[in-house]
Amino acid sequence: MIPLKSEKDLEMMRCTGQKLARIIKKLREYIEPSITTLEIDRVADNLIRQENAESAFLGYKGFPAHICTSVNEEVVHGIPSERRLKDCDIVSVDVGINYQGYFADAAITIGIGKVSPSVKKLIEVTKEALMAGVRQARVNNHLYDISHAIQQHVENNGFSVVREFVGHGIGRSLHEEPEIPNFGRPHEGVMLMHGMVLAIEPMVNTGSWECQILDNGWTAVTKDRLFSAHFEHTVAIGDSGPEILTHYN
Ligand code: MG
Repeated sequence: MIPLKSEKDLEMMRCTGQKLARIIKKLREYIEPSITTLEIDRVADNLIRQENAESAFLGYKGFPAHICTSVNEEVVHGIPSERRLKDCDIVSVDVGINYQGYFADAAITIGIGKVSPSVKKLIEVTKEALMAGVRQARVNNHLYDISHAIQQHVENNGFSVVREFVGHGIGRSLHEEPEIPNFGRPHEGVMLMHGMVLAIEPMVNTGSWECQILDNGWTAVTKDRLFSAHFEHTVAIGDSGPEILTHYN
């Protein structure tokens, strides 16, 4: 069952989404060479508190931090640490919050200092793939129209989409039905309906799509250790098209 949101639910989710958008916008200003990922986590913790919200990740299945910070070949679920970011690194920052029982989830990937043109392209293509998926999040489309649009944009640019991790419905819980793969055939999957809210999140690898989980039990890395990027928005399906609840400039 995919939970459909009422107008009241959507009002609350807009509010949570805007809080998360402000958090991400402020957080990215801090991300520069020589910051550690643990320092990014501390800033995020403060920004989340300032919005009177809570981290949706801290303690989730035992996750030990407020946000996920995934560096270079790390795909998702990187744990903030004393690792210091340096020129040419990239970091994916994934932030989920809970405000008054409603969740929002978003992620961005940022290049540190001067990244190479090919890495810059990886980041751009991943961001574009998210928007290509978002554009398909409309009433009377099928779920995998989103998946297909993402996969097509990524593969047309010579990159690959991760198979092991997928997007998800979101609302009163961080993870609700449906699962949203970043690959699939168009015109398949459930029909999209007004009131569905989806966390759409392409994870894009430079080389092979295959991943491994590190010994910490959390961090996913690319099997070939090439770079990976991740963007995510929480999106409501409205009557007049997709509404990005976590939109920021
Ligand atoms: Mg998510």
